[in-house]
Amino acid sequence: IVILSIETSCDETACSVIRNGNEVLSNIVVSQIDSHKRFGGVVPEVASRHHVETITVVIEEALEAARMTPADLSAVAVTEGPGLIGALLIGINAAKAFSFAHGLPLIPVHHIAGHVYANQLDEELRFPLMALIVSGGHTELIYMKDHLSFEVIGETRDDAVGEAYDKVARVIGLPYPGGPHVDRLSKEGHDIYEFPRAYLEPGSYDFSFSGVKSSVINTLHNQRQKGQEVNAADVAKSFQESVVEVLTVKTLRAVKDYGVENLIVAGGVAANSGLRARFEEKCQDEGIKLSVPQLKYCTDNAAMIGAVAYHLYKKGAFGTLELNGRNTIDIEEYTM
Ligand code: ATP
Ligand code: MG
Ligand code: FE
Repeated sequence: IVILSIETSCDETACSVIRNGNEVLSNIVVSQIDSHKRFGGVVPEVASRHHVETITVVIEEALEAARMTPADLSAVAVTEGPGLIGALLIGINAAKAFSFAHGLPLIPVHHIAGHVYANQLDEELRFPLMALIVSGGHTELIYMKDHLSFEVIGETRDDAVGEAYDKVARVIGLPYPGGPHVDRLSKEGHDIYEFPRAYLEPGSYDFSFSGVKSSVINTLHNQRQKGQEVNAADVAKSFQESVVEVLTVKTLRAVKDYGVENLIVAGGVAANSGLRARFEEKCQDEGIKLSVPQLKYCTDNAAMIGAVAYHLYKKGAFGTLELNGRNTIDIEEYTM
């Protein structure tokens, strides 16, 4: 089964050709970061325009790199949501046109399911499992007892982790997207600020990152107002420590409570070196099998969408040409 998959939910125009859900024949990702940098974040209208300009070329390149023609394909998959609606629609319309023109089934895919299934590109998923999704727009703990079975047991009540990273980076004065810069800088700093850790009510698997974010902003503001020298590396390290501690402690508690032995950490923030190292250390201590996607599959890409689509194909979960983008969709709706 060979699937061409398309992903345009945010600021990456991506297309991949993938065989049997794990053999990546091509993986083309065109990032728009340079266009959004000067605005300090993704501008939806700018993103849509770039997707329009790029999508056709990206699809052609993905086919060419895979040495495939449309006749070799079994289906075309596309991210249905969640994401920026204008951006999603570009990918969806391209997928619908491709599906119609070549008589291929259309497979709508949930973006966050894609982040989870990015792990399948390296090894088979083992169930039951717990997945921690940490990305620009999401922070969720998902329990999966089998393929395409999603139970959200915890989520952020305010900011997503990636969002908090990007805001903290901005007040420190680092370029967008700030996550990787904060990560790098934290390696030169010390946890001297002891920013708050939001554990919420006992037993809750939810998260909250607006408190630590505000605390960083206030600390920097006060120090600057008093004319004190701010050590950006210490701020970065202290912030990262707070985030990493809460994420690992809560996730490992969920893993234990649900009695699972497999843990997946995915999404853009799974690229974070501090988070990866802490999870590796703790999972080793507790005999938990940890899977984190390769860096290139952590951030947005289309191969991860094709990885989910393979299982949807086997279930015959096809969409129609009425398919529309949705800027929010509950992943639990995708359980089948
Ligand atoms: P979503 O998947 O929720 O729709 P998104 O697609 O914008 O959001 P991703 O591409 O999965 O998000 O991840 C991007 C986020 O990951 C950004 O917030 C970025 O700062 C963050 N990020 C990337 N690398 C790192 C890192 N090394 N440390 C911390 N954060 C990082
Ligand atoms: Mg992105
Ligand atoms: Fe994403």
